[in-house]
Amino acid sequence: MSYDVVVCGAGVGGLASARALGALGLTVLVLDRQKAPAEVAKGELLQPESVRILDDWGALPALRTGGAVPVDRLAIRDPGGRVLLGLDYRALPGAYREILCTGYSNVLHALAGTLGKTVEVRRGVLVEKAVRDPTGRVTGVRVIDGGRPEEICARLVVAADGLSSRLRRSAGLPGVRRDYDHRLLAFDLPGVRVADEVSAYRAEHGLRLVYPLPGDRCRLYVQIRPEELRGLGADALDAWCDRTLAGVPALEPLAEVLRAHLRGRQILAVYRLRAPRLSTPGLALVGEAAHAVHPMAAQGMNSSLGDAETLARLLESAGGGEPAAVDRALAGYHADRLRRLDHTATVSHNAARMLTSTAGPARLLGGRMMRHTAANPRLLRLTTGNLAGVDPHRLTPVDRLYQLGLLRDRRAYVGPEQPTTNGGRTA
Ligand SMILES: Cc1cc2nc3c(=O)[nH]c(=O)nc-3n(C[C@H](O)[C@H](O)[C@H](O)COP(=O)(O)OP(=O)(O)OC[C@H]3O[C@@H](n4cnc5c(N)ncnc54)[C@H](O)[C@@H]3O)c2cc1C
Repeated sequence: MSYDVVVCGAGVGGLASARALGALGLTVLVLDRQKAPAEVAKGELLQPESVRILDDWGALPALRTGGAVPVDRLAIRDPGGRVLLGLDYRALPGAYREILCTGYSNVLHALAGTLGKTVEVRRGVLVEKAVRDPTGRVTGVRVIDGGRPEEICARLVVAADGLSSRLRRSAGLPGVRRDYDHRLLAFDLPGVRVADEVSAYRAEHGLRLVYPLPGDRCRLYVQIRPEELRGLGADALDAWCDRTLAGVPALEPLAEVLRAHLRGRQILAVYRLRAPRLSTPGLALVGEAAHAVHPMAAQGMNSSLGDAETLARLLESAGGGEPAAVDRALAGYHADRLRRLDHTATVSHNAARMLTSTAGPARLLGGRMMRHTAANPRLLRLTTGNLAGVDPHRLTPVDRLYQLGLLRDRRAYVGPEQPTTNGGRTA
């Protein structure tokens, strides 16, 4: 069996690749080991750059029909709800100035609806490994379908099989994973209407994040230590919940529903990963197979969709699906994406440290950076553009000194008076 492209994994990275490559008229086979997508708390905030790509691909109407909630503001607040730093997405350049809050399965559904006639999706198929020719070029994959092994040939293999990518390993591409020192507890709370905002509360014991979801639901993430809930019985869990709520008075409107849904929590490990090489002849890494960042900056889908868009653009300009042209495009893909992914990794890691550090010096430093960023409209605009992905710019070493308050940024205060906070909406 032979295709132009075989895509392994039907998450955002895989479906986006199938959409973008199918639109070039290539025959694409998408394989996923799961019979249906799992309902997990991940990939719910679509930054404006993701919205731009999904709009280009015709996926926005399905997202809107699925109830995606538009939000134009991200605020870091103290436990009482006072704004420490507010990012106003309405100030972004261009047409895309909102985050869309939705479920990961809605994003997958919207993408699946845009796949062309040349794309076939097969579920319940485990991809075991990459197959290579005598030169070492990847020429297909070996799969297990219904207990039977099978080999599928393709001129291009896209490894979009997530964080623990078997394909990445079997193609000899390393991935360096580092775990953060905390976990996230995720709660899906029904029947509550929170402010149209992504609210990050910087509490003594770490981050508490709240945002709306379709159908009058909201997501609450609570940062915990790895062993914090281990072995807790029902009463101890209730006491833990009371202490958590007492630490963030602004969450009081969620107290009742949180107590009622304590047992529906998911505990998630938090990590970052980088593959130093994003391609090898015949194979491209896309999405979390290539890169993962701390989820709190909501950058993973921007990067996965951007991977797919870039890969298709380069393949088209390399002039076709012949192996030599594919390999030229793959070399370009590595060079093009590496810089952008480095930038995203830095932005995400810095945001994560600012929000999740609980130990003395790191927390003090994070607080200081937040204060100086909040007081500097230019840095606020840069930060908003970097998170949104529509107008990314690296912060220079001098900008870092401004952030730390070690230099005064004269440019930031020139011109008409600028607001330093954005009102005081609370959840
Ligand atoms: C808690 C959390 C919250 C997040 N929140 C956000 C957010 O708000 N915004 C954002 O942009 N990003 C967010 N992210 C990141 C985002 O979810 C990921 O970047 C995105 O899901 C990556 O998509 P992917 O397709 O690469 O991987 P996945 O979604 O993991 O998909 C991989 C697919 O490959 C399949 N697969 C794996 N191995 C095999 C195999 N051997 N054979 C066949 N199939 C296989 C799996 O079944 C799966 O369907 C979050 C992540 C986490 C963990």
